[in-house]
Amino acid sequence: MLGTDATHDPARRSFVEAANLARADFPLQNLPFGIFKRASDATGRGGVAIGDQILDLAAAQEAGLFAGAVEKTANAAKGPTLNALMALGNHAASALRARLCNLLDAKNPERRKIEPLLVPMSEVSMQMPVAVGNFTDFLTSSFHSERLSPSGKVPPSFKAMPIAYHSRASSVRVSGETVTRPHGQWLDQDNIMRFGPTRALDYELEVGAFVGIGNELGQPIPIEEARTHIFGYCLLDDWSARDIQRGESVPLGPFLAKSLSTSISPWVITEAAMRPFRTPAFARPEGDPAPPSYLDSPRERENGGFDLKLRALLRTRRMREAGQGGEPITNTNFKHMYWTFAQMLTHHASNGCNLMPGDIFASGTTSGPAEESRACLAEITARGSKPITLSNGETRAWLEDGDEVIFRARAEREGFTPIGFGECRGVIGPAVNFPAAAR
Ligand code: MN
Repeated sequence: MLGTDATHDPARRSFVEAANLARADFPLQNLPFGIFKRASDATGRGGVAIGDQILDLAAAQEAGLFAGAVEKTANAAKGPTLNALMALGNHAASALRARLCNLLDAKNPERRKIEPLLVPMSEVSMQMPVAVGNFTDFLTSSFHSERLSPSGKVPPSFKAMPIAYHSRASSVRVSGETVTRPHGQWLDQDNIMRFGPTRALDYELEVGAFVGIGNELGQPIPIEEARTHIFGYCLLDDWSARDIQRGESVPLGPFLAKSLSTSISPWVITEAAMRPFRTPAFARPEGDPAPPSYLDSPRERENGGFDLKLRALLRTRRMREAGQGGEPITNTNFKHMYWTFAQMLTHHASNGCNLMPGDIFASGTTSGPAEESRACLAEITARGSKPITLSNGETRAWLEDGDEVIFRARAEREGFTPIGFGECRGVIGPAVNFPAAAR
């Protein structure tokens, strides 16, 4: 039912020892694709994560480790982006995955040929995995929507369709880039509109999906085929300036409050790697309408969701200076999302809109029903009115300069090897001096 195969066999181990640790994000069963760069590299190179190492795909190809169709796929994955790999689709990527799994297996008699092609993660900087053509952000957690709605209810169309807005592709950046506090217009305490650095900077813990094979303009994608168009997943931080958002969102939706920056984790967790962790689509509460037929299928109902644990940690400047790690502030799970990624994709293309390889669409803030699962500060602090106190005594209503937000994700299921997503992180940098004189 889940479509698992030999690449998911939990008995398999890698000769890369760090991949076999119980807490490893990148065991042999994960094999995510990414773009890495050593100090000596002119451009980014395609690689596959295994434990604390990266298999250099161009070097592996030059060593003659691929043949036939798999060689063509490996060639598309060499970099400097993964768009060409995504355009080949999931079948091609799965065949490459199967070959990579055999190459990196502890039982591979040719491991001595592979070991020189491994690059330690500690020696590279990760790059954007794709050139992002388009970025769409959805709103699929009813819990997030209800907590932030003045009426406490989701918008009228929420249960009929996955709601979204077109966001900015150029400001999607890879994990680790500084997020500069944006300027914008907001209401001060005297109800006067001012222009200046935001006073209500927030994170949104989301999961992003990458489009694989696209569709021609005018040609919708049936729900039964939607999964074959989704190449893989990442963590995504939809940084949001709540005070700016408040003033601009009506009537045309978010604009400058969101386009300031978006961070994504660098490793693309493939559709195949996530198969063991599929769960039934969200159980709609009694009385909710069924999804419209173009967004409904037995397969989506059966396993359209993911059991994916998601965490956000806050590490303030003081914590960093004291050598402390981040403090958990969100603990949620992707299984609480009202709509599945396949439903988002089919809805997105239902008017004939053409999706392109490497396009990103994101789930929206992944809040669940529990208090600890609130996945942004606007929910945690009730729009800034109830600041949280951290273990070192600091308080936060919103993010301050020097604060770092770190996301992690982990998928687990009895009988399978757990996998992780790596990290998505960003530090808030001070606003630039704009305009030079006045606020
Ligand atoms: Mn968002």
